Amino acid sequence: MKFEDYHIVPEIKRSLEKAGFKKPTDIQFKAIQPIMKGEDVLAIAQTGTGKTAAFAIPVIDILHRKKSTNRPDGIKCIVMVPTRELAIQITEVFDRIGQYTKVKTFSVFGGVEQGPQIAQLEKGIDILVATPGRMFDLVSQGYIKLNRIEILVLDEADHMLDLGFIKDIQDLIKFLPNTRQTLFFSATINEKIKKLAYSLVRNAIRIQI
Ligand code: AMP
Repeated sequence: MKFEDYHIVPEIKRSLEKAGFKKPTDIQFKAIQPIMKGEDVLAIAQTGTGKTAAFAIPVIDILHRKKSTNRPDGIKCIVMVPTRELAIQITEVFDRIGQYTKVKTFSVFGGVEQGPQIAQLEKGIDILVATPGRMFDLVSQGYIKLNRIEILVLDEADHMLDLGFIKDIQDLIKFLPNTRQTLFFSATINEKIKKLAYSLVRNAIRIQI
């Protein structure tokens, strides 16, 4: 199956063509259609498998179809990641895949001033890529509202646990609507990761690459 045969919006097909992506990778083949149908996903996939586009393509597709305008406080999707580098990298992928759509992505992470991040959040964005610590600070201060979140993505969940982000993640989850769709990605799996995963997903499609 090729991307041209997928029921994804033409704006995304155009960016995939521009990037030279013709066929889905294994993880993309298994994850894109279930995510577009609204299923929760629990995926074990390493970097290099095309995992970022496996969630970026369907998330952008879902939000582009729904979206009418950019609104402040209207964040629809949160992507939680362990590091600033990964936040920047993932935001680039969302920007590239979403370049012809109405969907706007922005990232926040620690180690830099909050001011410019707050200014951008106030302009209104659709997808926020964030490290848990900075996200928690901005939520506590009221700059990020999570009540309209439709999709939660955790990427490199194992790495987030290794870095001690479990408490921030659990505190943040409490602010999210229960009706959301959850996509849980981890490179490795063990009991601790499973416990976190199953506290977040509902009837998830399990994918192992
Ligand atoms: P990731 O696992 O998300 O870090 O992606 C690994 C690399 O694969 C990145 O450089 C992507 O640009 C590339 N990539 C992802 N999906 C595809 C695809 N369907 N066809 C060709 N390259 C891809």
